[in-house]
Amino acid sequence: MNRYRKRIVSALMSLLLTASPLMAYASEKAEPIVFEPVSEEELLRNDLAEIGENKLILIEDGQTDFTIVIPENASDPLREAAETLQNTLKQMSGAELPVVVENQLENAEHTIRLDEVFGTERPADEELADGYRLVIDNTYVSICGQTQVGTRNGVYAFIENQLGCLFLTPDDTYVPQHTTVCLVKADVADTPATLWRDVYAYETAQNHWAAKLRLNGIDVESDDTDKTIEQLQYEGWGTWCHDCYDYLSPDDYFDEHPEYFSEKKGERVYTYEGRDAYLCLSNPEVFEIVKNSLAEKIAENPDQLYWDFSGNDNYALAGCECAECKAADKAAGGTGMGTLLPFLNKLAKAFPDKYISTLAYLHTLKAPKNIKAEPNVVIKLCSMPGDQASSYLNGANKNASQFKEQVEEWSKITDKIVVWDYVVDFAHLLLPFPNFAVQAQNQKFYEDNNIIGVFHQASRENGGEFACLRAFVLSRLMWEGSSMDVAKCVSQYVTAYFGAAAPKILEYMNLCASELSAGDKTLGLYDGLFAHYKSYLSEENVRQYQDLIAEAKESVAGDAVLTGRVEEVELSVVYATVLLPEITEEERQTAVSRLKELCETHDISMVCEWESLDDFLANTLTATVASSQKALKRPYIIAVSAVAGVALLAAASVLIVKSVKKKKKKAG
Ligand SMILES: [Zn+2]
Repeated sequence: MNRYRKRIVSALMSLLLTASPLMAYASEKAEPIVFEPVSEEELLRNDLAEIGENKLILIEDGQTDFTIVIPENASDPLREAAETLQNTLKQMSGAELPVVVENQLENAEHTIRLDEVFGTERPADEELADGYRLVIDNTYVSICGQTQVGTRNGVYAFIENQLGCLFLTPDDTYVPQHTTVCLVKADVADTPATLWRDVYAYETAQNHWAAKLRLNGIDVESDDTDKTIEQLQYEGWGTWCHDCYDYLSPDDYFDEHPEYFSEKKGERVYTYEGRDAYLCLSNPEVFEIVKNSLAEKIAENPDQLYWDFSGNDNYALAGCECAECKAADKAAGGTGMGTLLPFLNKLAKAFPDKYISTLAYLHTLKAPKNIKAEPNVVIKLCSMPGDQASSYLNGANKNASQFKEQVEEWSKITDKIVVWDYVVDFAHLLLPFPNFAVQAQNQKFYEDNNIIGVFHQASRENGGEFACLRAFVLSRLMWEGSSMDVAKCVSQYVTAYFGAAAPKILEYMNLCASELSAGDKTLGLYDGLFAHYKSYLSEENVRQYQDLIAEAKESVAGDAVLTGRVEEVELSVVYATVLLPEITEEERQTAVSRLKELCETHDISMVCEWESLDDFLANTLTATVASSQKALKRPYIIAVSAVAGVALLAAASVLIVKSVKKKKKKAG
């Protein structure tokens, strides 16, 4: 009896032990968030039209005597914000408020005062960063930041928060319609949760949309349409990344001073396996050259606050192998930061009014032991390999927990970390990628760990999956902080953008997210359809998505604008369809034709960060589908082989037993 009881207990124990990681995973996994259409009343912001005791009447029955006032020295982006406010109010109510420079107006009453006008003082609170103070009083509204950038942010925030508009895309703004506009009196300071904010995407760099999203990581002053997205991004940064050769170039120094460059396998090299190598940071002359070069760069570009010095993008190299560099890296716990961080600290001391930044990436990813960063050193920490299904706050799967650990280790060394996160599928820019559920938790994790900036890397190509929605939500989240209701934000956006099709689009988004949550453990930045074929991208699910999109289209039939917007989502479902491994070739060709048609209509030429639609259809599609089909056959082949193997073994055993028996008989 005892023996049996012991066996049962031990069996239960081993079952529990085996199951415990699964149980821990299940309890920590991010729950999918549920999107619900917002009521028309809520979207229309009917409260705007209600006159009340505690309210300022800005416009009544389409009439107003209010004026928008700007300072004489208003920057172009601030003037643009004032004009956007003017246009929005006109679109909303029909009333046109003139935009006037302060010295051309005598009376301060009935004014919307932007920046330091009519005695408005800049807010003293240093924590305000590029935030602002908003006052809505009996006869005026005043919006003022510590700089004009703060004021500009305040104007765009006023348009969204007080007036109920939504800056949906670079070209479309949702504006509720009211001939009477009343504002609740207020005196509030509003400051961004994250100091430096960027969503790197094609769309955010278009038409000064970044200003409306209140991102400060993108240049919104430039009207140079020839500038690439890279040239418009990284506002505030003199140098950005992988730039050590910009300070000390092999062209200038390698011939005479190979000792300035990294040692690899006993030789000094400036390239390794076809890619740029590294510098020898232990060499004191290298420091002097880099320092002088940085001084020159700063003199040329004095307004830039952040200056990066980091290694080249070379997976194979792993730093300099000279005796001194190796010893320093080893002493720091086996990380290239053993040589790099002291080098940066010296640079930071030489330029105390600038931030000196570097990449924590590849061999410099790991935080060093026993070295602290100077207060003006910034660490840009990359979430490689990254995950978008479980948050960094919980670290529920391996990739997320690895990044969580890195951030926590780094936050012991510095209070200036910029997170570099990857928020789209770079290999399949159009594939459904349901990663909204983790974003608020990630933001919370950043707030808990001294993160001063977030670089959300999305797609640099036009028209990625939900590109504008994603940029809108992430920008808001970085401003408002982790307490923001992401589900509500998405729901409001979708309701405003898709109109009558919104319920079906939200149903589609909910289904994608819940199926991902129920199935896969990770959502990676290079995943193909087949990685999720047993989950949210199964044929059964894709067919359900097709039905939902068809219903969405039907609900807006006859409306060309809304149909075009639904087609943006249809693109993702059609793209998934062409990759399904078990459909007929006829169905695939129909989907391919539709994909081509939609890409042409919506001006999409790239379906992957490194491959055009034409190349994808000509080369990659067939191979990808074939590889998925082969992988599907593999389990059957293995099963058949296993059965055959067992049968052979059994037959062999019978023969052996028989022959042994025969031998025994003979011997007997
Ligand atoms: Zn070295």
